[in-house]
Amino acid sequence: MGLNDSSPGAMRNGRGLSDQWADSVVVRPRTTERHITVHKRLVLGFALSILTLIIVTVVAVVLSVRFEECGSGRGRDRAAGEPGARGAGGSARLNGSRGERTGDRGDDEAAQPWRSPRLPGSVRPRHYDLRLAVYMDNFTFSGEVSIELECVNATRFIVLHTDRLEVDQVSVTAEGGAAGRPARPAGGAMRIHRHFPFPANQMYVVVLHRELKPMRVYRLNMSFDAAIEDELLGFFRSSYTLQRERRYLAVTQFSPIHARKAFPCFDEPVYKATFSLTIRHDAQYTSLSNMPVESSSLSDEDGWLTNRFARTPRMSTYYLAWAVCNFTYRETQTDSGVTIRLYARPDAISSGAGDYALQITKRLLGFYQAYFKVQYSLPKLDLLAVPKHPYAAMENWGLSVFVEQKILLDAEVSSSSYQMELTMVVVHEICHQWFGDLVTPVWWEDVWLKEGFAHFFEYVGTDFLFPKWNMEKQRFLTDVLHEVMLLDGLRSSHPISQEVEQATDINRVFDWIAYKKGAALIRMLANVMGQTLFQKGLNDYLLSHMYSNAARDDLWSKLSQAMRSEGRDIDIGEMMDRWTLQMGYPVVTISKDQSEQLTTHNITVSQEHFLYGQEVRSNNSLQWQVPLTVAVGNASTVCSESLIWINNKTETHRIHQMHENTWLLGNINQTGYFRVNYDLQNWKLLIQQLHSSPQIISVGNRAGLIDDAFNLARAGYLPQGVPLQLIGYLPEETSFLPWHAASQALYQLDKLLDRTDEYSLFSDYVLKQVASRYHQMGWPSNGPGHEGNVLQASYQTEELQRELIMLACSFGNKQCHRQAVAYISDWISSNKNRIPPNIRDIVYCTGVSLMDEDVWEFIWMKFHSSNAVSEKKILLEALTCSDNTFLLNRLLNLSLTSDLVPEQDVIDVIVHVGRNPQGRSLAWKYFREKWEVLNARYGEALFMNSKLISGVTEFLNTEKELSELKDFILSSGVGAGPALPRALEIVEGNVRWHRLYRRQFYQWLRKPPSSALG
Ligand SMILES: [Zn+2]
Repeated sequence: MGLNDSSPGAMRNGRGLSDQWADSVVVRPRTTERHITVHKRLVLGFALSILTLIIVTVVAVVLSVRFEECGSGRGRDRAAGEPGARGAGGSARLNGSRGERTGDRGDDEAAQPWRSPRLPGSVRPRHYDLRLAVYMDNFTFSGEVSIELECVNATRFIVLHTDRLEVDQVSVTAEGGAAGRPARPAGGAMRIHRHFPFPANQMYVVVLHRELKPMRVYRLNMSFDAAIEDELLGFFRSSYTLQRERRYLAVTQFSPIHARKAFPCFDEPVYKATFSLTIRHDAQYTSLSNMPVESSSLSDEDGWLTNRFARTPRMSTYYLAWAVCNFTYRETQTDSGVTIRLYARPDAISSGAGDYALQITKRLLGFYQAYFKVQYSLPKLDLLAVPKHPYAAMENWGLSVFVEQKILLDAEVSSSSYQMELTMVVVHEICHQWFGDLVTPVWWEDVWLKEGFAHFFEYVGTDFLFPKWNMEKQRFLTDVLHEVMLLDGLRSSHPISQEVEQATDINRVFDWIAYKKGAALIRMLANVMGQTLFQKGLNDYLLSHMYSNAARDDLWSKLSQAMRSEGRDIDIGEMMDRWTLQMGYPVVTISKDQSEQLTTHNITVSQEHFLYGQEVRSNNSLQWQVPLTVAVGNASTVCSESLIWINNKTETHRIHQMHENTWLLGNINQTGYFRVNYDLQNWKLLIQQLHSSPQIISVGNRAGLIDDAFNLARAGYLPQGVPLQLIGYLPEETSFLPWHAASQALYQLDKLLDRTDEYSLFSDYVLKQVASRYHQMGWPSNGPGHEGNVLQASYQTEELQRELIMLACSFGNKQCHRQAVAYISDWISSNKNRIPPNIRDIVYCTGVSLMDEDVWEFIWMKFHSSNAVSEKKILLEALTCSDNTFLLNRLLNLSLTSDLVPEQDVIDVIVHVGRNPQGRSLAWKYFREKWEVLNARYGEALFMNSKLISGVTEFLNTEKELSELKDFILSSGVGAGPALPRALEIVEGNVRWHRLYRRQFYQWLRKPPSSALG
């Protein structure tokens, strides 16, 4: 799945959807036809229930007599006297928990396998025949599923998943064939003792009279009804407007555990099976699923359409998918004959907004087939653009679903960052067709196996599409590595492989640790192995586990094998377990032995668990196997590079060609997932190098040095002056990446400092570094074709220009402010927006913050009238930039109490008000006052993404605010979820930094040393 990113620079951990088409939908009354169906069914159901009751009573009386005769024994029934019990064919809408008292007669129901959070595994599904009738007029559906089962261990219980389904009929038959041979439809009906839902575990239990036999095949038939909900999970609905008319669509989101909301199934990834799906619906709609339509028929009677889809390969339930909509499409074909279609709203298709995604998808299928050396498995791939979706996208095999903002591109008004983000979401989902769909993690604890790979390949695949972007070597560092090390340096972090059992915990594993740390670890491993062996290992892994499941050890063993084939004997499993089963990462400290004067030097390398909180460091014993690459260099050249494995706390290594003025540089190109620290003399030499001739050190390492220095200082490993002195070289920096790393670190500091008395010392220092390069780069021109088409534009230059304008305007460069104001004034007076798309967000925000109320009203009006997805989002964000607290308050209240702001954007509004220094205390206060409302409205989702909580707390940094946060945690009674403990740790860290380091920090700024050597 692709999680939704919020704007760059923020903790990108949310689901901030903005969506102007879909709002709350009123359920329309059922049609007469449906009324009749339901009525008939009720009458029939009632009659059956009466009949069943009679049969059950008779059977129970007979059985209880027999049991009294036989005494105790296995396989005995407890039909009589149990409120949950129902015979075959009866209605089973009772709460299952009432039925399960443990028998005092010692029968095997005492085992109660449905009480365990995981399926018992005694039976496995082989094939599902699923037939659905979808009623778009009243948003309900009914279905019949026939599941071919193989019995693994003798059992009387069939336990599978259902959630919110009304199960009507249940029957079980024994098939003629044994497992391994095709089933013959010959078998007889099995008598069902009772069947009932067990809602606590979202399970459904069928208890049989007799045991199922191992190796034999059975068939479980169930019929059910359910609603097409308005809540983005299971089989859900949403809507859009076409020619002033509201249109509806219904689509599925099953990952991770919502297939059970749409049909009874074995809803754990390891239960792979094949699926044959048939959908019946009103002929004005189209239906789609993972596979192409095999046959289609139109009923003369009611004009309904029945689509039968081809049988799928073996797959898990969570990426099964279907949709019923009246979208149109454009299509293309790959050289190997795979049909790719992009389905969307008819007006989006006709405007060509889907063409970009369609074209890159075609190229990507070719790329992945060549890289993995495994063909795409299905005959077609549909991309479906929906107005509302809980995630950025979902990788359903052959039918991937995207929220419109992540797949539709309006080249005229979209910024290059919008296009980049969209591209990466597409690259991510296409990668999943192999990593996730073809080979699936055994269980959710290893969700990072698929998400980490897909996230890593976002960069590799985008490099294939646009080699000049240099994503994997550059942007990966700031957007993945630096961001996740910030989170993973907290003691409230967790290992990437997390144990999960309970259904409610499964959503939590989809966090940035799984995605970003997963990607960073895979990148480290790929670099240790080298490209060829890495690819060879992946190919072997995919071929060995295709149409099946794999755990991390399966991957490690294939990668180790690939290494051994080249005579390199590294136990990858042993190495990687340290990184995946332990939380956090190490800081590696390299120091030179100063006493020696030889050309061969000893260096001491030590590792310790990097943590922002000093007091928690004392007794940490975590260690890693660290692949440390080291280079030595002097003023003009880098002399050599070598790989040293660090396995112990402290090690000594010999390095050649060292002189008095040679510096050491660790973690070349930042391929490793760790920080590097040096002795102060070495820091001085590196800083001197950056000031005199930065290009000697690679772009990646320049960005890495900046990020490491700021974070080491923040955590107290380095004096506060070191990072400040280091960024003194920035006027010489011509590349985007180091500037981006610096700005990310500076905005972090800004949140700590912007309410301090001496703030201007800091902002002046930043502006001093920015000024010359900012003036040199200037502002983008807005001639036609120059912006918005990142394919031709020199991406690095545009991004650098944007970064510098953002720094200049946010830290108060007067010229930058004047330029922004001029653009806004021009827009208002001419009613023509001539602001280049790439910097609109900066200009809008700066304009709103500096100009009067009329500008706010103007932007508010534009927000309502705009139709472009990307534009609407940045207009709304700009409204939060005002320094007028009256306006901010008004915006907050309007967001929450009116429908002027789409419901999904409310959290974004609050978070962005919190990012505004003038709005921080307001957002914090508002959050606490409205907590009950927010919590009621966003419920569990709030904990899942934690965006709101981190957004309104990360800038708190006084003792008073810390105790406010503690009070809030106590009084709100919300202990669950990782967001609040993390917020508390961050705020404690902020307070500590002020107590320990603020003076030192400002002292350096008051009297910076004149030379780079300080
Ligand atoms: Zn994903």
